[in-house]
Amino acid sequence: MKQTQSRIIVALDYQDSNQADLFVKTVTPEHCALKVGKELFTSAGPQFVERLVSQGFDVFLDLKFHDIPHTVNKAITAACNLGVWMVNVHALGGREMLLAAKEAVDSCSAQRPLLIAVSVLTSMNQAALSELGIDKPVAQLVSDLTQLSLDCGLDGMVCSAREVAELRQKFGAKPIFVTPGIRPTGSENNDQHRIMTPEQAIQTGSSFLVIGRPITQHEHPTRALQQINQSLANL
Ligand code: C5P
Repeated sequence: MKQTQSRIIVALDYQDSNQADLFVKTVTPEHCALKVGKELFTSAGPQFVERLVSQGFDVFLDLKFHDIPHTVNKAITAACNLGVWMVNVHALGGREMLLAAKEAVDSCSAQRPLLIAVSVLTSMNQAALSELGIDKPVAQLVSDLTQLSLDCGLDGMVCSAREVAELRQKFGAKPIFVTPGIRPTGSENNDQHRIMTPEQAIQTGSSFLVIGRPITQHEHPTRALQQINQSLANL
């Protein structure tokens, strides 16, 4: 069960556990969930994830698994054993891989994590997809991969806040949509181009917001987090 009432997932985009800890010790599980991605996981390892879980945090293990079905099944089982709250895969791994991932979460001996898929990386544009032999328009591909993932029993998708309104309209209230690219009014865009404020993203249908630098690089991270939580309190 989700430990926190907050809809914010803070991206722990740090090089190592020492740096991540400096932030983590300023927050509690009621303030936010925490996202551990490839950089921190590769440096700090599963022990770090287990420690966050033992501190009561909901952890989104953002490793975007994409491999043969058997390997993904085993990797997700290992993630389940760490006690994570959310885990993800690439929808482009295909139906069999998605079903194998779903089977792993359903067989989880601990709390079943939420299983979500990434459709098309936002770093890919039409030209980059064409180079891979994929000529479908991006929006259609995102929609088709969402349909496939939901058909396979996944809980939802990571998607851009710009895609979420259409996906929510098409796929209804049930799927979980997790959106990065969020910038509270007044914060730096950094390298994000198509941004939305936290309020806009929730209003257009996001379930959870992944937010990194506007919180982690803020002069007063807990204050920034608190302000965003407050801005969403009545939405
Ligand atoms: O610091 P910022 O708020 O831009 O961090 C956003 C987080 O969401 C990072 O961990 C980034 O890798 C992730 N992300 C993203 N865009 C995507 C998918 C994931 O920014 N399309």
